[in-house]
Amino acid sequence: MAKLTFGGGVHPYDGKALSKDKPMKTIIPTGEMVYPLSQHIGAPAVPVVKKGDRVLTGQKIAEAGGFVSAPIYATVSGTVKGIEPRRVVTGDLINSIIVDNDGLLEEVAYTPHEPDKLDKKEIIELIKEAGIVGMGGAGFPTHVKLSPKEPEKIEYVIANCAECEPYLTSDYRRMIEEPEKLVEGLKIILRLFDNAQGILAVEDNKPDCVKILTEMTQNEPKISVAALKTKYPQGAERQIIYATTGREINSKMLPADAGCVVDNVDTIVAVYHAVKEGKPLMNRIVTVTGDAVNDPRNFYVRIGMNYKDLIEEAGGLKCTPEKIVSGGPMMGFALFDLNVPTTKTASALLCLTHDEVSAMEPTPCINCGRCVAACPSRLVPTRLAVLSEHYDEEGFVANDGMECVECGCCSYVCPAKRHLTQAIKSMRKNVLGKRKKA
Ligand code: SF4
Ligand code: SF4
Repeated sequence: MAKLTFGGGVHPYDGKALSKDKPMKTIIPTGEMVYPLSQHIGAPAVPVVKKGDRVLTGQKIAEAGGFVSAPIYATVSGTVKGIEPRRVVTGDLINSIIVDNDGLLEEVAYTPHEPDKLDKKEIIELIKEAGIVGMGGAGFPTHVKLSPKEPEKIEYVIANCAECEPYLTSDYRRMIEEPEKLVEGLKIILRLFDNAQGILAVEDNKPDCVKILTEMTQNEPKISVAALKTKYPQGAERQIIYATTGREINSKMLPADAGCVVDNVDTIVAVYHAVKEGKPLMNRIVTVTGDAVNDPRNFYVRIGMNYKDLIEEAGGLKCTPEKIVSGGPMMGFALFDLNVPTTKTASALLCLTHDEVSAMEPTPCINCGRCVAACPSRLVPTRLAVLSEHYDEEGFVANDGMECVECGCCSYVCPAKRHLTQAIKSMRKNVLGKRKKA
């Protein structure tokens, strides 16, 4: 049963007005393009080109390195300059294919399909071959997510249109400018699950999107639109499943265990491009915003182009940013170097001024309990952070630390500016790493 919201959560300043009303702008990149071989969860992709090869836009340059992996495609034409480690947004050095862009954008020929004439296996194969991964940030290969053990038990395909992260407006622009691709993409995914209903789950701070999508789906008996209460992290997988279906999952469960599949807007549109037009994943929408940017807006970006060039396209900086973040302010990565490539999971580039960043140093906990009230996973963040700081792994797990969804609500509400999420996140990473090795 739909609840349309969840317990806990916060209402941060959303900063969306900076970019939401400007139409998307397409960028034609110049210069070198960088394609990290690990831009998804799972095995790195394996290069199928070598230095000196000429490549075309839409040509496969790396194949999947296993079932849980995804191929990578050139997004411009040019010459392979080399395959070497390059810095990515997380600060890690990742082996990458470098293409010297010739500016000609010469393209391979694509084969469009009639989705209604394809069977389930053919649809999954097209999604797999297109290199689609969760573009909301997770990067989990979509063909794996869409291949649960018991597809007949999937009752809901939830299109995650919440876009609850402050400042981000790329899904909003997509719903305003290309809603038909979202609806068609959802219909394609629904063809994989005989017993499923589609839910377009939108936060109620986007009434125009709710209206457009409701009108577009009025003759689609298998699709409904849910207007969810606006609250962060409404778009987190567990929270959106609870809000739309009343079902709960924990860290040991997959959405499929609750009869659900959740995909974000850009991922569903990528499915549309792959199946209907036969095009691999080459583009995504990136919000470039923040008070330090001259012309905040959304860009239609060819994956592989440099972050520095994105800022230039947004009119450059009007002052030195206090903080630059890849992704949203709650869950994104602070960047120390702008010379990094956009990837399949790059949703936003935020350039925040001093006023936008609370630059206070953390002070001791005053036991106010706000972090507990804000936590959507019903945890005690302050206790978990202390356990993490003391490397008490056993205590951390016993206190349900692994149920944290890393949403950042606790840090956001903490008046002492304690780095709660950061501490909890690093302990979770530790425990997950050990579980994988075991
Ligand atoms: S403990 Fe985890 S789930 Fe709870 S508010 Fe903090 S980051 Fe979010
Ligand atoms: S919100 Fe901050 S100050 Fe308040 S209890 Fe939690 S950690 Fe302590």
